[in-house]
Amino acid sequence: MDYATDPVTAQAAQWLTQLDRALTASNLDDAAALFADECYWRDLVAFTWNIVTLESQNEIREMLASTLPAIQPSGWALTEPATEKNGIVEGWFCFETAVGRGRGIFRLRDGRCWTLLTTLYELKGFEEKVGPRRDLGVHHGAVKDRQTWLERKQQEEAELGYTKQPYCVIIGGGQGGIALGARLKRLGVPTLILDQHERPGDAWRKRYKSLHLHDPVWYDHLPYIPFPDHWPVFSPKDKIADWLEMYTKVMELNFWSSTVCRQAAYDEATQSWSVTVERRGEPVVLRPKQLVLATGGALSSPRIPAIPGAELFTGVQQHSSRFTSGEGWAGKQCIVLGTGTSAHDISADLWEHGANVTMIQRNSTTVVKSETLMEFGIGPLYSEEALAAGITTERADLLDAATPFALKHLGGQALTRYIKERDADFYARLAAAGFQLDFGEDESGLGMKAVRNGGGFYIDIGASELIIAGAIKLRSGVSIARIQERSVILSDGSELPADLIIYATGYHAANQGIAKLISQDVAEKVGKVWGLGSDTYGDPGPWEGELRNLWKPTQQPGLWIHGGNLAWSRTYSLYLGLQIKARLEGIATPVYQLAPSHHPS
Ligand SMILES: Cc1cc2nc3c(=O)[nH]c(=O)nc-3n(C[C@H](O)[C@H](O)[C@H](O)COP(=O)(O)OP(=O)(O)OC[C@H]3O[C@@H](n4cnc5c(N)ncnc54)[C@H](O)[C@@H]3O)c2cc1C
Repeated sequence: MDYATDPVTAQAAQWLTQLDRALTASNLDDAAALFADECYWRDLVAFTWNIVTLESQNEIREMLASTLPAIQPSGWALTEPATEKNGIVEGWFCFETAVGRGRGIFRLRDGRCWTLLTTLYELKGFEEKVGPRRDLGVHHGAVKDRQTWLERKQQEEAELGYTKQPYCVIIGGGQGGIALGARLKRLGVPTLILDQHERPGDAWRKRYKSLHLHDPVWYDHLPYIPFPDHWPVFSPKDKIADWLEMYTKVMELNFWSSTVCRQAAYDEATQSWSVTVERRGEPVVLRPKQLVLATGGALSSPRIPAIPGAELFTGVQQHSSRFTSGEGWAGKQCIVLGTGTSAHDISADLWEHGANVTMIQRNSTTVVKSETLMEFGIGPLYSEEALAAGITTERADLLDAATPFALKHLGGQALTRYIKERDADFYARLAAAGFQLDFGEDESGLGMKAVRNGGGFYIDIGASELIIAGAIKLRSGVSIARIQERSVILSDGSELPADLIIYATGYHAANQGIAKLISQDVAEKVGKVWGLGSDTYGDPGPWEGELRNLWKPTQQPGLWIHGGNLAWSRTYSLYLGLQIKARLEGIATPVYQLAPSHHPS
């Protein structure tokens, strides 16, 4: 690449060369001096065998002091011309470590580095067998007792888990378990995915009938096989379920359906797990080295508030996760407790089926219109326009990862300001209907709420207009104080008749699921899952700057937690897959800054 003609690219190339020189000479002072006073280095597994953001020159210096001798980075080079916008120079680059190849993005302000992202994408000698490395698929020539592909596959299926132990067991075959399973398959890690449901995709199939993805198709691709380009923008849940089932088959994943994991215990002596499962009613004990919990919301049990008198109720009461359809509720009195995504979807479904619905709002909620979010929140990276501008899914994922969590609220706040102005009329009408709105404690909006506490928002696909019109009735600022045989008494003393009560009240903390499946000790050792430690509602400090315990080593050796929406499952399954593969191959994986446990209950 000729940098001489482009001053922006020349500046970026010079900065990268200086970094290369400083790191090669192990000159930590020179390396740290290349960073601005406010600086962030986010590393996804390349330097730290961890997912960590260093947030100052000092932290960067300490990390380099600890990791450089083993990592031995080299080969730093820009992969394309740099760009400049609002005084910020952005450079995309590749590099190598002693054991792998990486890529990243840096952003310079006034010549020094403001943010740096380094990521590992493959291990030397263990590259995925793609393109020219792909398998031949057939053995040409005459071979006696030749085994066909199907026979080999059937043999592997018969052996794995019985006469041959998988290196990795993934509990949970939702989108998370399946995406990670596909990564591990391509990396050649013997893996079993277990799910209690009968078919891959059932985690979506069994949700309420009217459910569609709330995120658009460009954001939702699984690794390796993107949705075809006629796929609808918002997938119906059964279509996603079928896609996951097809994907599991085509990617040849070892998927045990109708298999419940009852118990898992770690044996320090053999450094392996003993995982007791029930496969179609038969007990089987698996002994993997690595255990991944990809159990999603199911890891934690549904949270149903204890309300006096609930046992007296003669109607139907259920958690939102058990709701299937509004069918059969025409003319009935339905109470939906909560105002998050499920509460809105279920209320709208009940209304469509002719029910009289009242939502009970206990806490203020963030609402953003789907089209606004599509256009200004997700669209710049994931949309038809983004694709036309050359932002592929892979580029978008890297760009998204390049902004450290410590800065993401700034983008959220800017978006909130814009959204509030653009949809001012909508918000005024919603507030006039009594709906209590918020945009997060620091006005950083829906995206940050999702990262901090995983809930408290709704992407409006229609229910808000029903609330505004009074078609879905709303009682806000109250809770259910008491339940009677066929009614609820609200905290302001008023009474509402009720045939159905839906608790759209979320889930208990994931730690409780770990305690149930493994042990209380391990749950406490691992601590809180999800959240950044932002000290906002639902996300107590201390600040960690990365999602707690997700996709990275936990305090329990051999235990990993995988999850997130489709986009994050796609992105982070790569980094978790590489961590597991490295351990299988005996590559040294010294973990820098293993996060301490916080908030064990
Ligand atoms: C209304 C609504 C809209 C949503 N819209 C979107 C969207 O647009 N885009 C998006 O990406 N996400 C969306 N989500 C979120 C999405 O559902 C979750 O992010 C997703 O389900 C998480 O996937 P997962 O694989 O981690 O967990 P899950 O899908 O919950 O899968 C976990 C699996 O683990 C299994 N399991 C648990 N415990 C055991 C055990 N002991 N033994 C065996 N199996 C077990 C369960 O059976 C389940 O199949 C939406 C959710 C809702 C409710």
